[in-house]
Amino acid sequence: RSYSGTFKRSQLRLEGVKDVIAVASGKGGVGKSTTAVNLAVALAIKCQLKVGLLDADVYGPSVPMMMKIDRKPDITEDKKMIPIENYEVKCMSMGFLVEKDAPIVWRGPMVMSALVKMTRGVDWGNLDILVVDMPPGTGDAQLTVTQNLQLSGALIVSTPQDIALLDARRGANMFSKVGVPILGFVENMSFFKCPHCGEPSFIFGKEGARNAAASMGHNFIGEIPLEVDVRKGSDEGIPLVISAPDSVISKAYGDTAQNV
Ligand code: ADP
Repeated sequence: RSYSGTFKRSQLRLEGVKDVIAVASGKGGVGKSTTAVNLAVALAIKCQLKVGLLDADVYGPSVPMMMKIDRKPDITEDKKMIPIENYEVKCMSMGFLVEKDAPIVWRGPMVMSALVKMTRGVDWGNLDILVVDMPPGTGDAQLTVTQNLQLSGALIVSTPQDIALLDARRGANMFSKVGVPILGFVENMSFFKCPHCGEPSFIFGKEGARNAAASMGHNFIGEIPLEVDVRKGSDEGIPLVISAPDSVISKAYGDTAQNV
C-alpha cells in the first residue's frame, strides 16, 4: 500500500500530554525498544521531565521486562487504564495485559483495536512527553498509532548496517508522508570498544546512520555503542541510566534526550 493523501497526521490530542514522540525503526532487532526505554528514563531523570512510555510494539512488547513491571494496570471509573510507574516513568504495555509467555497470535483487526485502546484508553495525567515504542515496520499498525496520537515528531533508530538503514529510510519516509516531522536518527550499536585493548570495532559498519540522516536532510541525534551493560540492563530490567548514571553510555542517552 502506498501512503497517499488518505492517511493524515492525527489531530487527536491526548489531554494533559504536551508532546508525543514516536521511537521507530524499519527493521526489528536494531535496539528500538532499548533506545525508547533508556531515552524515556533519561528524559525523566536527567532532564527532570514528566514522562510516559507507551509500548505499542503489540506483538513483541519489551517494556514489562526492560522496566521490570510485572502486574496488570488498575482501571479508572471511566474505564481507562492507569499506567504503572517505575524509574519515574509512567508505563503502559500490551505485555501488562497478557500472560508472560503467551504468544500474541492476533489477526489484523484485533491488533488495531488493541492499539486504539493503548493509545486512547490510558489515563496518563499530566505529562511533558510521551515516548512511544512503535511497532517495527511500516504497515497498518504504525498507521493506526499515527492516526490515533498526535505525534510531535519521530525518532528513527538504526544500526549503521545497510540493510537496517534501508528500512530506516522507509520508516522515515512513512512519517514524512503523513506529516509527522522527523526529529532525527539515532545510531545504535555504532561500534564495540574492546574491553582489553580499547580499540573500537565497527561491527555493523561505520557512520551509516549519520550518513543516511545527512543524505535525507535529517538531524543526527546521537550514537550508542554496542555494549554488554546495555544488554544486561535490558535483560535485568534496570536501564543503564539507572544502574550506571555516570557511565559513558548513560551520558550518550542523556545527550540524546537533550537533543530531542
Ligand atoms: P528492537 O526493539 O529494535 O527489536 P531491542 O531493543 O529489543 O530491539 O534490542 C534487541 C536486542 O539487542 C536486545 O537483546 C537488547 O538488549 C540488545 N541491544 C540493543 N541495543 C544494544 C546496545 N547498544 N548494546 C548491546 N545490546 C543492545
